[in-house]
Amino acid sequence: MTQGFDTTAIHAGSDADPATGARQVPIYQTTAYAFRDADHAAKLFNLQEVGYIYSRLTNPTVAALQTKVAALEGGAGAVCCSSGHAAQIMALFPLMGPGKNIVASTRLYGGTVTQFGQTIKRFGWSAKFVDLDDPEAVKAAIDDDTRAIFAESISNPGGYVTDIPAIAAIADAAGIPLIIDNTLATPYLCRPIEQGATLVVHSLTKYMTGNGTVTGGVVVDSGKFDWSANDKFPSLSQPEPAYHGLTFHETFGPAAFTFHSIAVGLRDLGMTMNPQGAHYTLMGIETLGLRMPRHVENAQKVAEWLENDPRVTSVTYAGLASSPWNATAKRLYPKGAGALFTFSVKGGYEAAVKLVDALDLFSHVANLGDARSLVIHSASTTHRQLTEEQQRAAGAAPEVVRLSIGIEDVGDLIADLDQALAKATA
Ligand SMILES: *Cc1c(COP(=O)(O)O)cnc(C)c1O
Repeated sequence: MTQGFDTTAIHAGSDADPATGARQVPIYQTTAYAFRDADHAAKLFNLQEVGYIYSRLTNPTVAALQTKVAALEGGAGAVCCSSGHAAQIMALFPLMGPGKNIVASTRLYGGTVTQFGQTIKRFGWSAKFVDLDDPEAVKAAIDDDTRAIFAESISNPGGYVTDIPAIAAIADAAGIPLIIDNTLATPYLCRPIEQGATLVVHSLTKYMTGNGTVTGGVVVDSGKFDWSANDKFPSLSQPEPAYHGLTFHETFGPAAFTFHSIAVGLRDLGMTMNPQGAHYTLMGIETLGLRMPRHVENAQKVAEWLENDPRVTSVTYAGLASSPWNATAKRLYPKGAGALFTFSVKGGYEAAVKLVDALDLFSHVANLGDARSLVIHSASTTHRQLTEEQQRAAGAAPEVVRLSIGIEDVGDLIADLDQALAKATA
């Protein structure tokens, strides 16, 4: 990124519309695109010429968003998807096959633990969950069938941070890519590719859009991984039977992963982002560089206030000097440790439920990364089916409440927490 972050956020991918001169990216609410002639159609289908065919594959509004996110992450290309969860499947799809596995962090969004721990088994894929703060355990978990390491830069729900360069070195030595879910950090707080990651995935649903209006995801490829260095990635390094024997890496070089994701991934899995959603996310990203500092500043103040309150027993925020992740956060996330964390309230399950009900400005919802502050009590909602032991292991013990700190006036957020804590612990 030669330009500054905010300049890139506003201008990348958002040139004036070539057809009309419209200065803002239009919503191309369109399915198909007329071929100039039969030869043009053949060239598009052969991937000899880049252009629009059908919106399951590519759409001009979605393409603008792909260009913008790729620029912000410093990647060679990006593919938008229907959700963050779709993006995770799309990231794994070119790499995996029956019997192959990934090594994944134990500190992940609960939905990802279920997707990787259960659902991907239906494809013959599997995941080994490892504490990524233990490099020896990560190395030991990698075997001949491992095709990627997966981690969140800043993790949901605890707000812990990952030492990306340390994990990237292990992935490099094993000849496999490191995939980073950068949802909670956004490229404003962390650029995983600069720290050695190969692929970056996002739930665009969260901070990138920033106002709770869109469900979307994206996969960004660094373009730096040598898919042909070993025989682990035949979909990219060898003739692909799903695309009349085209060898993607040889043909497209650093764009191989992105072309495969569109020509085979979106074509056959159909996890496509819609142009309306892409438009809202384009609008959201224009102010990402203004919103994130405020999210972080508010989160730091709220976390410090909670930590000093006798009604609170612990706060997980990595921006606190007391956090075991504080040194890593300062070194690798100098602009802040995000705005999502959990805290424990005195009085257990009863008090936590009362607190959530007593909050006024904080909305009780299963979302994060919104301009407004959000709260959820995991043990009575998302983690309700688990035993208390399982809840504790997942960071969702009965007394734990998760906060997503918004960009309101921080004094009002603290006053709201103060009155709710008084009611909850009365
Ligand atoms: C929300 C979330 C996801 C899933 O994204 P969706 O858009 O809801 O599918 C993945 N990872 C993290 C860290 C998330 O917070």
